[in-house]
Amino acid sequence: MIPKGKRGKMLTVEDGFLICPRCGHKVKRITPDESADRVLVYCKARECKSEFYIMISEGRCFESRGQ
Ligand SMILES: [Zn+2]
Repeated sequence: MIPKGKRGKMLTVEDGFLICPRCGHKVKRITPDESADRVLVYCKARECKSEFYIMISEGRCFESRGQ
């Protein structure tokens, strides 16, 4: 399990896609049973281009804080 202290705020997953917290575009496919400690996500939206780390816990996504 992911230590609670490393979790940032919960991110929106809609229709199986992670939604970019900055612009609202779909950025990554998330499956309901997916878990990962630290994943680099890149938003391809032309006006956004955000890059950020997330963690995934059984299909729920959180911002990743620090190392
Ligand atoms: Zn974005």
